[in-house]
Amino acid sequence: MADLLLLRGGVVLTMDPDIGDLAIGDVLIEDGRIAAVGQNLVATGADTVDCSGKIVIPGFVNSHHHMFQTALRSYWSDGLELDYFMQSRFGSEALFHQYSPDDVYWGELGGALENLAAGTTTVVDTSQCSYTPEHTDAALDGIRRSGIRCVFSYSPVFGDHEAHPAYAHPEDIGRIVDAAGDSGLVSLALGYHVDEDLFRLARDLDLPVFAHVNDANWGRVLEEFESDGLLGPLITYIHCLDLADSSWKAIARTGGKVSVSSIAEQTLAMGHPALQAALSHGVPVSFGTDAVSIAPVDFFSQMRAAFCLQRGAIRTSGESTPLPLSTRETLRIATLGGAQAAHLDHLVGSLTPGKRADVVVLNARALNAGPVLNAPGAVVHMMDTSNVETVLVDGRIVKSDGRLIDVDTDHVLDKLAASAEGLLSRSGARNIFLTSCRHG
Ligand SMILES: [Zn+2]
Repeated sequence: MADLLLLRGGVVLTMDPDIGDLAIGDVLIEDGRIAAVGQNLVATGADTVDCSGKIVIPGFVNSHHHMFQTALRSYWSDGLELDYFMQSRFGSEALFHQYSPDDVYWGELGGALENLAAGTTTVVDTSQCSYTPEHTDAALDGIRRSGIRCVFSYSPVFGDHEAHPAYAHPEDIGRIVDAAGDSGLVSLALGYHVDEDLFRLARDLDLPVFAHVNDANWGRVLEEFESDGLLGPLITYIHCLDLADSSWKAIARTGGKVSVSSIAEQTLAMGHPALQAALSHGVPVSFGTDAVSIAPVDFFSQMRAAFCLQRGAIRTSGESTPLPLSTRETLRIATLGGAQAAHLDHLVGSLTPGKRADVVVLNARALNAGPVLNAPGAVVHMMDTSNVETVLVDGRIVKSDGRLIDVDTDHVLDKLAASAEGLLSRSGARNIFLTSCRHG
């Protein structure tokens, strides 16, 4: 007997260009798959979720996140790029070098749960904490425990790693691929910056690559890689700040995708976020959040930041004026655009029959959302995580009535607080909040 779930009577924003939006519509889910989208669907024996007064969208897809950092939430809120890199990675006292596998586990689990609670059903996790195979396994355990859909981008730690003799990047990828088997919601990729060996290894293993391209110099390296045949559609380029036009053309010609983390990039003063550059060059673009040590995970903040960034640049550019971004296009980037950048758009990213059911139901019967006169506008400009009522991953309800299912939030928060305390004390780093309180 099929497992049937009917989301009935909501405003449905499918993000599927052929289906469009339904002012009132239903989504039928069968055995974890979207079976139908339409009006007045009949599904005998289905469990039903009443979606009147709600907006139904595909789950958000976060194309760049370092979830292991969850215990360090807001640590670099006032930091610049150099503060972040030097304090996190360089020298034996650097914060990331204090991570035990247990710290990684709770960071990944807490980060994944936070994404789910905020309506993000897929995350690309660029781990950067694989000091030992045990660290990597702990990351994967935390992700699997959460129930999120994840592309685990196995990445080297960079900076100093002499203190970790078991450090085995990238050789350990073979063991991870073998152990993954039919791994359900978690798929594998490789991550780093623009690195020739890694790009070749990914091609040999037929894995996607998520590569940090932080500035124009790395963009130029990309152009050399194009002549060596190393670029292709399975590569997603992260940040891409202030790239030369020729670098953008290399990405576009080879079918690459881009991930923009505009809040984190602007907080660290890394340069001008690449949203408009990607749009202008016809490169599929997506949103990432980077790290909660710097910036928030919720996609409502990300969408608003991106929308305002793009429109603000139009007002001041004066030259060839790009088209203003719409709220619907912003929502498409946050969902289907993310799925394209995660290389999972054949599975998720839109409410399309045949795709897996990663779905979010947003409560619009709330003082910050009603009355709804423009549904994408209500989602992008008005809503926040308090409107995220029901979340499904692969057809399974992971959040209902505004609460995560089978999650002891207090326990997770206690573990993260203990992890933060240990990381700070082992590194000798200051608790910035307490320090700033003392000094006013
Ligand atoms: Zn990053």
